[in-house]
Amino acid sequence: MSELAENLKAVLEAIGKACQQVQRSSDSVNLIAVSKTMPSEAIREVYEEGQHAFGESKLQEAEGKILSLPGSIHWHFIGNVQRNKVRKILQNFNVIHGISSTRLARHTSEVAKELGISPQIFLQVNLADEASKGGFQVAELHAEMDDLLALQHIDIVGLMCIPPPSENPEGSRKYFVELRGLRDELEKKFSVRLPSLSMGMSDDYLVAIEEGATHIRVGSAIFGKRAYRVQGELG
Ligand SMILES: *Cc1c(COP(=O)(O)O)cnc(C)c1O
Repeated sequence: MSELAENLKAVLEAIGKACQQVQRSSDSVNLIAVSKTMPSEAIREVYEEGQHAFGESKLQEAEGKILSLPGSIHWHFIGNVQRNKVRKILQNFNVIHGISSTRLARHTSEVAKELGISPQIFLQVNLADEASKGGFQVAELHAEMDDLLALQHIDIVGLMCIPPPSENPEGSRKYFVELRGLRDELEKKFSVRLPSLSMGMSDDYLVAIEEGATHIRVGSAIFGKRAYRVQGELG
């Protein structure tokens, strides 16, 4: 078995175990293989092992790869969404994880209307108020949720977070608990369903599953260490 196939198998087994421990069905966790910086050949190899959802964080880098790979791949945009790239992102990706303001959500809905689509999106929450990260502050989300829910051409499926870096996976737990709690609150307060939680990366996805993640974004545990950093991006 190739190294990538082995990595994928190990991640899937770990997901299965974690699900069993907290009595969740393993279907309730969607693995997104984060392929940023990785070549198409590596993505194809993982795809051929049965993994069909991939995450990319740079439009320009992703476009060529998306063109060269099977159309049945489900592409998730996990990077910062720039307003002037929304159209191309919507044309290339199935799901957007990082809608970080109401203004951006409104623009995305307008462009989606023009394209005749209704994309799934996650609202990114900046739980630790980090200046270096985008995302809604919690109070802002409460204040703007009505406006967000009125946008007719986006399908808000849930919340996404990227916790501050920590020494060990347990450091992320309180943020995952907080994101789930916020989701529960918003569902009640606005009588809406927000079924999805995008949280957990290579270092902390098992903790995220324990705390209710439905979408985990796992890069290096599958593809190995990235050879270079994407400017302005997370590791
Ligand atoms: C790069 C990235 C990931 C994957 O990170 P790994 O630690 O390699 O699993 C997940 N989410 C986002 C938003 C990223 O930018």
